[in-house]
Amino acid sequence: MADISEEADQNSAPDDTLAVRARAFFRPLIAGAVFAAASVPAGLQLWQAAIGYGFFAFALLAVPSGVAAARARAKAGSKTGDARPRDLDVIEALDLPAIIFDDQTFVIHQNAASATLIGLYPERAALSAWIRSPVILDLVARVIDRNQPESVEHSERVPSERWHEVRAAPVSARTDTGRGLFVLTFRDLTEARRMDRMRTDFVANASHELRTPLASLMGFIETMQGPAREDEAARTRFLGIMLDQAQRMARLIDDLLSLSRLEMRAHVTPEGEVDLAAAVAHVVDTLRPMAEDLGVQIDLTVPDAAIVVPGDHDELIQVFSNLVENACKYGQSGERVEISVTRPEGQGAQVSVRDFGPGIAKEHVPRLTERFYRVDVETSRAKKGTGLGLAIVKHILARHRARLVVRSTLGEGSAFTVKFSPGNAGALSTSSDLYN
Ligand code: ADP
Repeated sequence: MADISEEADQNSAPDDTLAVRARAFFRPLIAGAVFAAASVPAGLQLWQAAIGYGFFAFALLAVPSGVAAARARAKAGSKTGDARPRDLDVIEALDLPAIIFDDQTFVIHQNAASATLIGLYPERAALSAWIRSPVILDLVARVIDRNQPESVEHSERVPSERWHEVRAAPVSARTDTGRGLFVLTFRDLTEARRMDRMRTDFVANASHELRTPLASLMGFIETMQGPAREDEAARTRFLGIMLDQAQRMARLIDDLLSLSRLEMRAHVTPEGEVDLAAAVAHVVDTLRPMAEDLGVQIDLTVPDAAIVVPGDHDELIQVFSNLVENACKYGQSGERVEISVTRPEGQGAQVSVRDFGPGIAKEHVPRLTERFYRVDVETSRAKKGTGLGLAIVKHILARHRARLVVRSTLGEGSAFTVKFSPGNAGALSTSSDLYN
């Protein structure tokens, strides 16, 4: 039997004996014999048929042509179920971490992917040298015992949260000393789990956000049908509150629809060109009344020459509106918002929105673009926020292959800068480096 641990030796053919070759050419030999036998009644002498068949059999068995040898090897291999060196080559090429071990849990072979995931086993090491999880070691013991494939789910939290489906299965080969062989594989479920969790969290958050105003609406309707039926002043006040709640639900649904539309178009490059100074000036004109109501002064600095970027006009307007509105709302105490459109030497165009409000603590900054993430939920609600504004900004910028850089100092204010890449859209940076 071939030894799966000795790759070099396995490159030689299985025993090239007469018996093996006879087995490989069993059918042609039988067919030849039938033909020889049939030629006797047809007029051939028995001794002539025998000699003819003898030559035929000799040609097949005694002269091991390349084809014959290959055929013999293939037949011998498939019959005995030997693991050939090619099996190890295949395992080596897989990006699925795989370890071959024997029935005493000694590692016989591991591929590079498993060395990266688990660590490189020294010669003749047991599986437990690197794998400490009782769940996996129990699985290995069971599979050796029952000789049946089985899998378990394994998760770990350190150094980061990861999930794997770990599968152990017997291999149809044995070591040269006749011991059983098994393969252990690790399928990474981390990304799938993360997506599942995000989806569940998102549905839970969206439902919660909608249920709160809905509960308030229902409460007021019941009050107006009952105790406040005849109270004109209370009814007027309640209707005002109900309108607020209904508007909050409408804002939320609008933002959810925006997000889902953006997700659908995530991989489509936006068409068109946008003059940044004109777009930002338009946003400032639209939001100035709101800023004045809040007591915030907006200063806009734009260059003389137009700065044009490839992009979707309406989407970029939405980005700048969200940033300027946030700066006015959350930075209200600073009473001033500075907006600039620039193209620094050797870099892409930039739009910076700076406020002088309370600023954002460092630990919140990397999470600001998560859906429904808010530094302070009550403040956001009071300011008619949905918690989706910056998530929408992130999606739009990802589509435009631009980045959002957030710098903030507590007590001094925040600067949200949109950085477009220099050159055309194809050479732009990805959204993965959202924060610098
Ligand atoms: P919201 O609808 O709540 O405004 P966003 O996604 O636009 O949602 O913003 C998320 C959170 O980020 C806000 O709730 C707020 O806590 C914080 N934030 C955004 N912009 C600023 C800013 N300029 N200054 C301070 N905090 C900000």
